[in-house]
This record gives sequence, C-alpha cells and structure tokens, in this order.
Amino acid sequence: MTRVAIVGYGNLGRGVERSLKQNPDMTLVGVFTRRAPESVATEGAAAYTMDELLQKKSEIDVCILCGGSATDLPVQTPEITKNFNTIDSFDTHANIPEHFAAVDQTAKENQTVSIISTGWDPGLFSLNRLYAQSILPKGETNTFWGKGVSQGHSDALRRIKGVADAVQYTIPNTEIIQKLKSGEKLDLETRDKHFRECFVVLQDGADAEAIKEEIVTMPNYFADYDTDVHFVSQAELNRDHKAMPHGGTVLHTGTTHEKTKQVIEYTLQLDSNPEFTASVLVAYARACARLAKEKQFGAFTVLDIAPKYLSPIDDATLRKE
Ligand code: NDP
Repeated sequence: MTRVAIVGYGNLGRGVERSLKQNPDMTLVGVFTRRAPESVATEGAAAYTMDELLQKKSEIDVCILCGGSATDLPVQTPEITKNFNTIDSFDTHANIPEHFAAVDQTAKENQTVSIISTGWDPGLFSLNRLYAQSILPKGETNTFWGKGVSQGHSDALRRIKGVADAVQYTIPNTEIIQKLKSGEKLDLETRDKHFRECFVVLQDGADAEAIKEEIVTMPNYFADYDTDVHFVSQAELNRDHKAMPHGGTVLHTGTTHEKTKQVIEYTLQLDSNPEFTASVLVAYARACARLAKEKQFGAFTVLDIAPKYLSPIDDATLRKE
C-alpha cells in the first residue's frame, strides 16, 4: 500500500483525492494546507496544517504537491523534498531546468525521490513528442491544445481593470491539423495553429470597446492570435463556462523512405483538466515510491521513468499479459 499526502487543496488537490479512491493500492493519509484546515472543504479526507506534515513523516510514503506553478511549487517542492518523496506538476516550461536542478540537489542530499513536471503538458505530451521524434527522426512535430480553458489566459483577462470575471478557451485550428495529417508542408505561424475565445463579465460602468481593444492587443497572451471577445452576464458565465475541460493533440508526420508517409497522433479529450492531471500524478506517485524503495535518489521527470513503474501490476504479469 502506498501512503499518500496531498499538499495544497485546490482543483488539483481535489482531483487527487478523487483519483486515489480509484486506486486500491494507494491510501490517503490526509490533506495538508496553508489555510485553516477547518476552512478547507474536502470530500471526506482529514485536513491538517503544514506543521503537522512533518509530525506525520513516518506515516507518509509520497507527498503529491498540488500548489500553483507560479509561486508555490518553486518554493514548496525543494522544501518538502528535504523530508519526503514528492511529485509535482510544475508547468512553467521555460523554468523546468532550473526547478529540476534545485529539487535534484535537495533530493540527493536528503536521500529522497522527486518526480517533477508530471501531468499532460508537460508530462504525457512530452513523452509522446520524444517517442515520435526518436522513432521518426525525419519528420515534424506539432502540438495543438484545446478546445479547453486556459487558466493563465483567464487570469490575464481577470486582471484587466473593469473586468469582473472571465474565462478563456484555447481552440485548435482543425483545418490546419487535417492539412498536416494529409502530408502538406506548411510554414506555420502562432496565429495559424490556435484561436482564442474570451467570455468576459464587465464591472458596472466599464467601457466594453476599450476592454476589447486591450484584450486583443495584449502582448504574449492575445496579440499573436485571432481572438473573439464575448461580453456575458455573471449568471451566464457561471452557468455555461465554469467547467474545466481541456485536451489537445500531439501530431508527428514523418517519412521512412522517399514517399512513405507515417503519422503519429496522440489526442486527449478531457472533461476535467485537473481531475485528469491528478490521475497522472497519482500514477507517478506509485513510481516515486518504487524508486525510493530501490534507493534511486534524486529528481526525475516523466522522461526518466520506465512505464512499468506506473502500473500496480507486477512485472511478470505485465510481460505475460
Ligand atoms: P489552484 O489555484 O486551484 O490551487 C493552487 C493552490 O492554491 C492550492 O494548492 C491551495 O493551497 C491554494 N488554494 C486553492 N483554493 C484556494 C482558496 N479558495 N483560497 C486560498 N488558497 C487556495 O490551482 P490548480 O489546482 O488548478 O492547479 C495547480 C497547478 O497545477 C497549476 O498552477 C498548474 O501549473 C498545474 N497544472 C499542470 C498541468 C500539467 O499538465 N502539467 C495541468 C493542469 C495544471 P493551500 O491548500 O495550501 O492553501
């Protein structure tokens, strides 16, 4: 039985609590939060303060860290890895090497194991890109995200003065996907691959036209895309746009000989991004516990983990089946 602690209880934390219920070889010790535990509404799990985490060290095999990538995980993952084996879903792609180095050093010094940046992207999509590019070196990989809610872009909308609430959908350009699959060679720009669709609730007296202009010209987030902006009521946003669907496609088109075309396509279609991401974290928590038993201390990413370590089924049975 792998004994798991959930550290941080937001969307992902709740997803881990749900996922653990589907994995009979894993048991939940509790939820550990920086807030007052009684204020955190879990779905049955006991909630504790962060101070209590260390007190329960002997009862915990792996901590699944469910904090945010922007400010929580860069601090929490190295800190908690001093005393525990850990998993995180750090997804600020550009900073992964730096995060890895910090966690690797702590894990080696303290003889613990940490698997960082698990989830689906980074995570399963990273694996799929690696497989595809290694198998078909003469080829081209494209990743398309959506249709789904981007929390980062939704947050950017909510920070605009005059915006009360907002949700942003990333929408892949299916026409481009079809053309790539049929073997067309395309010179793609950012704008060609995805559209952005925003549902925005205005504060009283806000200037809709000015806000729309601010959105579509926002650098890094919207300026490089074709963006639609819809103004809706809070009631409509709450009714139609509060689920967290997502998904995406890794598409690799290659050749193995002159005109021999080969296509690898890997697609995820998710009703709930956090519940799916949580399920990936739980499978990697199993791998983390096994690496710790084998004393393979240090930091890892999904690229380092043999697939069999994810499975609750033993090696001999996996070979047979
Ligand atoms: P949330 O914002 O829901 O939660 C992050 C943290 O905020 C929690 O751990 C919790 O910590 C705190 N928190 C949650 N709710 C509240 C609240 N009501 N008031 C105050 N604090 C709160 O983030 P998500 O769970 O949605 O996502 C976590 C991270 O997962 C994201 O930053 C993203 O980077 C990553 N992610 C990665 C993916 C991948 O494929 N690799 C896919 C999806 C997400 P505490 O309990 O200690 O207060």
